[in-house]
Amino acid sequence: MSPDISTLYLVATLLAALLGGMMMYFGKQERIAALDWWGYAYLLGATDVALWALASPTLPEPLGQAIHALGFIACGMVWNAARVFHGRKPNWPGLVIGALAWVAAVVSIAPDAVALRMTLGAGIVAGYAVLTAAQLGAERRKSVQRRWVAIVVPLLHGGVLMLPILLADLLTPSDRTVAGNVWVTMFAVELVLYAVGTVFVIFMLVSERTVRAHKTAAAIDPLTGMFNRRGFAEATARMIAREADAGRPVTVMIFDIDFFKSINDRFGHPAGDELLKLFATLVTNTLRITDLSGRIGGEEFAALLPCAMDEALVAAERVREAFASCGIVVDDAPVETTVSIGVAGGPARTELDVLLAAADTALYQAKRSGRNRVEAAMEEPLSVGAERRKAALAIGQAALPQQVGLAGVA
Ligand code: GH3
Ligand code: MG
Ligand code: MG
Repeated sequence: MSPDISTLYLVATLLAALLGGMMMYFGKQERIAALDWWGYAYLLGATDVALWALASPTLPEPLGQAIHALGFIACGMVWNAARVFHGRKPNWPGLVIGALAWVAAVVSIAPDAVALRMTLGAGIVAGYAVLTAAQLGAERRKSVQRRWVAIVVPLLHGGVLMLPILLADLLTPSDRTVAGNVWVTMFAVELVLYAVGTVFVIFMLVSERTVRAHKTAAAIDPLTGMFNRRGFAEATARMIAREADAGRPVTVMIFDIDFFKSINDRFGHPAGDELLKLFATLVTNTLRITDLSGRIGGEEFAALLPCAMDEALVAAERVREAFASCGIVVDDAPVETTVSIGVAGGPARTELDVLLAAADTALYQAKRSGRNRVEAAMEEPLSVGAERRKAALAIGQAALPQQVGLAGVA
């Protein structure tokens, strides 16, 4: 069975138009400008193939070939879509340069120089494919395993187009006529696969970005830009596990701004918000880059430090002092800003909740002792796991004499 080439091109055209429309629809819905670019690129590519199939037989030669300028602009748009997707500006000269080179070539080269035209055309498409792959591969945050699809699909497309040109020298003239027909069929099939493959890549990238954006939103406090309670718990779980593997201790601190309600009452809620932002910046700047911090409640913040209690107490004191002396003035009157801090350390593998509970007790003590102070937990909290082990051991020990007794009876 030999495929009907015009049917294949018709399918490719309709498919590209349908996919283009879909991408534009999603682009508008989700407000993703890059999807608009990809959508228009597909529609333009479809228009090129449709015009070429329908109108080019009736047009004089250079004009019939010049129609493909639309296709090269479409390739430039696919590349620009990748740029826009990664937050870069569209490259307008780059968008049209392929099309301009093509028009200049078809006007100036002899109409029967088919091979030369094909080489140039495939070269332009391959050039844009390489640019697109390079742009899609330049996403730093994504893991390499996922990125390879975004690089391989456009590169394969460029490679398939360049293949006949690279192999042409190996074929005899009679082989070339046969091969020419095979290539025309292959191009049509490849075009369909490329169109579908690229949309798959695009939607993979878009969905990955959307998921990442939602994950970030779920873990970040919008007011201060710090981790919220959930983000803090996730990030600290990773740190606790890492430090436990290395057998190093961790220390948790809870900060609670003193008399914050009265700041809200006297200066208004927006002023209170500003103070929360200031405190968040102060904590982030005062602690080390390796420490984790977050806003775990209204005017409550927490931090996890990969160090022992005594070192953490020095850091907590630094935060307390910095906040007390930050010198906020409202209506020419200084505003007293103080914070109470509870600190609790634990051996490797102590769970965050256990550390937080111990730090909270210490914080309560700091409040009771007059506020604006750092208080350390009285004793190291026992992790839930360690408590269970201790309980199991106690039960085991209680059972032991009984078993020995039974054995003695037997
Ligand atoms: P203490 O010294 O005992 O900690 O007293 P406090 O006034 O700081 O504590 P209290 O728990 O009585 O009040 C906390 C206040 O924090 C009450 C609440 O309105 C305010 N608050 C919570 N979240 C926000 C917020 O996002 N913005 C602002 N401006 N205020 C907040
Ligand atoms: Mg509080
Ligand atoms: Mg408070």
